[in-house]
Amino acid sequence: MRQVKLGLWGPVVSEVCFGSLAISPLQGRVTEEEGASVLEYALEQGVNWIDTAEIYDNYAQLAAATKAYPEVQIISKAYSVTALEMRQSLEKARTALNRETLDFFLLHEQESALTLKGHSEAWEELRRAKEKGIVRWIGISTHAVAGVRAGALQPGLDVIHPILNYQGLGIIDGNLQEMLEAISFAAEIGVGIYAMKIFGGGHLTHDPGKAVDFVRSVQGVQAMALGMSSREEVDYNLLLLSGKDIPPTLRDKVRHRERKLYVADWCQGCGRCLEACPQGALHLRGNLVAVDPEACILCGYCGRVCPHFCLKIV
Ligand code: SF4
Ligand code: SF4
Repeated sequence: MRQVKLGLWGPVVSEVCFGSLAISPLQGRVTEEEGASVLEYALEQGVNWIDTAEIYDNYAQLAAATKAYPEVQIISKAYSVTALEMRQSLEKARTALNRETLDFFLLHEQESALTLKGHSEAWEELRRAKEKGIVRWIGISTHAVAGVRAGALQPGLDVIHPILNYQGLGIIDGNLQEMLEAISFAAEIGVGIYAMKIFGGGHLTHDPGKAVDFVRSVQGVQAMALGMSSREEVDYNLLLLSGKDIPPTLRDKVRHRERKLYVADWCQGCGRCLEACPQGALHLRGNLVAVDPEACILCGYCGRVCPHFCLKIV
């Protein structure tokens, strides 16, 4: 597995980061045990860091799966606004992941300088935690061009996790060219960058080689998080990245697992999920929510706000 250095001063990690949203209860694609077994399989193959978040609700799953791999690094994130909320989020992660020191901790979904300003207390607490040795590397995740630019200028920031794919799908405030310019700006400062949604939430899986080659071609992006929920997907992705031939049976198995957002027919039409969708992919049709499959990137964020558990990625 190719090893990369995250930015100018970041750690060395595998080019692939295991995106654990795909095995988490938030997406609910697999059981906790199945998910842990897929993760362990990926770690055996040389993936040596894992992306998670407080809202994925899977710290216990990761703690169990990484017991035999204490060297594997875990990157988590939270929406904390105040210093107290950040302290609580860090404590929760340390306790539930059973780690004295957290490898990485990010502010989740930061859209702009304004959003970061609103989270400044939490950010300062994160910096203090870094100084105290509670966390090694800090940063933000973002679906926005302005988020990347603002993150790059954030004092003490080590890493940015932006959305990036060759069609610019999922960027909430601009186009692909603008995102590339923002990434270049951050990279010049020396920030480490690992991309998310390189397959555009499933929309670009018809040409996965192109998706990988594109991300690799972007100067300043060192790594990518790939969501995997089966051993076949692990094999498929690792073969893809190594440039080796993918057996047709494996290709068919993985390609046939096309996903979509399922809306249960007991939806009450309350509209809460519409506000939670960063892509504007949901709208009300009568008393039921409808999904625009072209706009949906299968992030699963809408599911967590539905009081009736109507939304699920299947
Ligand atoms: S509809 Fe839900 S899963 Fe799709 S992009 Fe919006 S929040 Fe994400
Ligand atoms: S939050 Fe749930 S119940 Fe409310 S509109 Fe969305 S899917 Fe329907």
